[in-house]
Amino acid sequence: MADGRDTEQNLAAVKARIADACDRAGRAAGDVVLVAVSKTFAADAIRPALAAGQRVFGENRVQEAEGKWPALRDAFPDVELHLIGPLQSNKTKAAVALFDVIQTVDRERIARRIAEAGQELGRTPKVFVQVNTGHEEQKAGVAPDGVAALVASCRDAHGLDVLGLMCIPPVDRDPAPHFDLLRELAARVGVTGLSMGMSADFATAINHGATHVRVGSAIFGARPPLTPPADG
Ligand SMILES: *Cc1c(COP(=O)(O)O)cnc(C)c1O
Repeated sequence: MADGRDTEQNLAAVKARIADACDRAGRAAGDVVLVAVSKTFAADAIRPALAAGQRVFGENRVQEAEGKWPALRDAFPDVELHLIGPLQSNKTKAAVALFDVIQTVDRERIARRIAEAGQELGRTPKVFVQVNTGHEEQKAGVAPDGVAALVASCRDAHGLDVLGLMCIPPVDRDPAPHFDLLRELAARVGVTGLSMGMSADFATAINHGATHVRVGSAIFGARPPLTPPADG
């Protein structure tokens, strides 16, 4: 784990690389939102990023986020929290209560649950539709040919504010064709947000049009080995 000073320096370095990638792509630096992915890291590891001015964070598990963010938010009320991991139906209400953006809507049922919980709680997160650009069986996300119908259902049937599309390209492959596919799909369905690019490939993603990059280890350091994201 990075110590506080490392985190601050890592964050500055990532921001500089984002600005540089924007510059090379002929885009304004403010075009790209940095979502700092703090999953697996405790509040003490997150505080230095907050102290350095970072306000947009991503978490992949509802329960884990519920354990640390309410207290951090009391201190930093302008934090914007994104859910970037799979959402199970039974966690929808808790997710709607806590997150400002849910990036992982990949079926109609989840869209409906988010809308229902939003009615009940009087706050509805904005959403991204997650796309399984690599047609990977084990991976979440709607198939590319299902994007138009799901975006329409989110908007028209459920009244959700669809910011854009999100993808996680297959590991160990060139991500560029996946980023291009996501951009083409977004243009086709008329959404502007593109959440793509992680620590290893965010500069490439920006070059291919990313509006949101999700960067974890390049800011907070290496994470402990993966545990299955079973509790969503
Ligand atoms: C963990 C995670 C990230 C961040 O990954 P890093 O390689 O640490 O930058 C981005 N997106 C999703 C969906 C993740 O689960």
